[in-house]
Amino acid sequence: MSMTELPNSFRARMLAMLGETEGQSFLDSYETPRTYGLRINTLKIKPGSAAELDIQQRFQLEGIPWCEDGYYYAEEVRPGKHPYHAAGLYYIQEPSAMSAVELLDPQPGETVLDLAAAPGGKSTQIAMKMAGKGLLVSNEIHPQRAKILAENIERFGAHNVVVSQAAPDELSARFPLAFDRIMLDAPCSGEGMFRKDPGAIAEWSPQAVELCAERQWDILEEAIAMLKPGGWLAYSTCTFNRQENEDTVERLLEQYPDMKLIAEKRIWPHLHKGEGHYVALLQRDQDFHQDIAPDSLQNQSSEPDKIHPKSKQRGKKRHREELPNKNAAAAYEACIDWARSELPGLGKRLCEGMPILFGESLYWLPFSAGLQLSPHSLDGLRVPRAGLHLGEFKKGRFQPAHALAMAITLSDAAQVWPLKEGSPELAAYLHGDTLTIPERYHGWCLVTVDCKGDGFPLGWGKASNGQLKNHLPKGLRQHSS
Ligand code: SAM
Repeated sequence: MSMTELPNSFRARMLAMLGETEGQSFLDSYETPRTYGLRINTLKIKPGSAAELDIQQRFQLEGIPWCEDGYYYAEEVRPGKHPYHAAGLYYIQEPSAMSAVELLDPQPGETVLDLAAAPGGKSTQIAMKMAGKGLLVSNEIHPQRAKILAENIERFGAHNVVVSQAAPDELSARFPLAFDRIMLDAPCSGEGMFRKDPGAIAEWSPQAVELCAERQWDILEEAIAMLKPGGWLAYSTCTFNRQENEDTVERLLEQYPDMKLIAEKRIWPHLHKGEGHYVALLQRDQDFHQDIAPDSLQNQSSEPDKIHPKSKQRGKKRHREELPNKNAAAAYEACIDWARSELPGLGKRLCEGMPILFGESLYWLPFSAGLQLSPHSLDGLRVPRAGLHLGEFKKGRFQPAHALAMAITLSDAAQVWPLKEGSPELAAYLHGDTLTIPERYHGWCLVTVDCKGDGFPLGWGKASNGQLKNHLPKGLRQHSS
């Protein structure tokens, strides 16, 4: 990209902000190539395993200093096209964007919110750090983007994530003071996107910066309303101006004396290998107190009443609205029956939670110690993914979901059809074709791709008489180029 395309007022502002010498070196960075990054999915791949080493070598990865699981790759390597990407073994993410979750540092077992989450870079990183324990509510306001977010979370194999599609004030009305940690990666004027997406330049103007700062403030206020006493909030943008970054945080500190700034970090394209990011880590005082409406309290429990997948639910004392309804219980029963023969390892994959039915779709709704969601507490909220999608319950029969295939390992399934990287069968499966399979297979098969002797799920197929019916969702099939 040529620097001459940058708006003059943007150039003048950056020179004023950074001074002539540094400002010029910042502007010169727009003449250099953009950076590319990916994060290895530690929910699927053990650090130091043969599979991890293979991915590092094959894509010639180079470590990103601020993120242990993050790596740079060269543009021509194209890991997004490889079947390992379809298997969710890594997530493609701009390198500097990986810094925000590192600072937030979510922990297993916590109740975490990602308020502006699509397409899911930060949510998948949070899910990795939570290691399947606790609850992540991953929210996106725009319906289409929420759908992409749900797909990315599913490919990543995260179990304990609820994807909602709500405006921030809808969430704060339901979940006041509910979260231990909140990530707010705010919509911004995108000055750090100029190398990656020159279209962002056309949308930039001083007025757009003003509008973004106002919108960020509105979203931030809703985020603060959902933060627990003692809770942590990471506020980030991929833009450089102070108005949307430090000034917004200063305004917050002035208006919310119960919040303090713990750390502030900037990644600059002329100083670091990345497109640029701002992140502030804030904490709410432990002794902060605010009365909350009794209506919203039903969602929260200081002492969670958990249903373990293996426990008999009937024996437990639970609030009426927290019990799975009759239809959900019947669908779950059908799922368990199916799993007995086809997916014996299902029980060990499910976290604390409960079955929940949306129409014919059965989900496993995760719980955390601090926030116990239920059909009642989600009522009226748009929830594209109410936890792990187990499958469809139609006319008394259970059919497993693609998301379930992505959230298990090959040792969980009764039948696995391992496909070799580069094989015609693998390409045909990803293309959505019906395949010829050895006669010994019958019923549901987990189709996997091999990586250094380990197999990673790609989806389901159903075998009968030497044929495998392809159950890869139509929207995920790869068309030959
Ligand atoms: N965190 C995401 C990731 O790492 O993949 C990127 C988030 S992006 C910077 C900001 C998101 O905020 C966009 O998906 C956008 O749709 C959403 N958004 C836009 N307006 C919003 C609003 N008024 N309230 C909440 N989110 C909004």
